[in-house]
Amino acid sequence: MTRPIRAVIHTAALASNYAHVKACAPNSKVFAVVKANAYGHGIANMAAALPGADAFATLEMPSALTLRELGVKQAILLLEGVFSAAELQLCAKHDFWLSVHDERGIGWLENTALSRPVHIFLKLNTGMNRLGFPAEKAPALVERLQQCSNVASITLMAHFATADDPEQGVAAQCARFDAACSGLGLPVSLANSAALLAYPETQRQWVRPGIVLYGSSPFSGKSAAELGLQAAMTLSAEVIAVQELNEGDTVGYGAGFVAARPMRIGIVACGYADGYPRHAPTGTPALVDGARSRLIGRVSMDMLAVDLSELPGSGVGSEVELWGKNVSVDDVAAAAGTIGYELMCAVAARVPVFVEF
Ligand SMILES: *Cc1c(COP(=O)(O)O)cnc(C)c1O
Repeated sequence: MTRPIRAVIHTAALASNYAHVKACAPNSKVFAVVKANAYGHGIANMAAALPGADAFATLEMPSALTLRELGVKQAILLLEGVFSAAELQLCAKHDFWLSVHDERGIGWLENTALSRPVHIFLKLNTGMNRLGFPAEKAPALVERLQQCSNVASITLMAHFATADDPEQGVAAQCARFDAACSGLGLPVSLANSAALLAYPETQRQWVRPGIVLYGSSPFSGKSAAELGLQAAMTLSAEVIAVQELNEGDTVGYGAGFVAARPMRIGIVACGYADGYPRHAPTGTPALVDGARSRLIGRVSMDMLAVDLSELPGSGVGSEVELWGKNVSVDDVAAAAGTIGYELMCAVAARVPVFVEF
């Protein structure tokens, strides 16, 4: 028998979340962001779940090629652009759109022979200070790129650092972008998930949601359910052993958990080598046979423990939802001091994935 752990991808939830984004941004086209293997959900599963998506955006050239091999006809944007002139030629060959964020990228555009012109997203820095030209340089750069015969069209693009934080928001970055670019008359893409939900004025021609499509909240103060999102992944495993503890007994590595009274615990076939966060502490929520329970002791590589003291009917073979439809991935992430993005992206290759249509 195979090890009893699985990730189930809920394609109906992916489709519902995409429809929710379309309803929230009715005047924008949507890039479904599928970098990092669709945030752990599988790029092919996303392509299957969203046959009518306006477009897709990814980071890795192999995943863009995979989308074309899967028959995706829509636009595919490379969010970090290309890393060589050869990759630029692949963009022309497969009609990938690409961001251009530095002088090196412009040089490749100006000096490479391409089979046809490419659509570019000129990436402008408005304060994130990660990728992009200073926004104030946009007019001069646009003029230069419009002279380049390899450039089919230009869209202006920027990225927000604090769209998820109501205190900091997007006002300063938006103002800097608009001051530099509003006169250029070009299409614009600014908003990630948090911005498109919290600041509709950022939606513009194209929005770029990732996390909300997968049913996780970009805001620490607002749950995915409150936002109308559905979990698109359920990670579950089974109880493979039961231990009866006496008062004073300890659990797992470090013996950090000490039973204050007699307890019953279940050992679950999921550990940090499956992608479950090692820093999740005692008390992190889990669901056993549909009933709320909690993590006990330290997560080990292949196993973790849950409390069965109040669940006398549960034991070996019981189903444990680590996160998914009932246990929010965001709650597990918060308990472990991280965000849902990291947990979903980290689900390990050894976890079998099943797709629910
Ligand atoms: C990852 C990414 C997004 C999507 O961000 P979410 O917070 O997941 O919505 C959008 N734009 C760029 C440039 C990205 O790298």
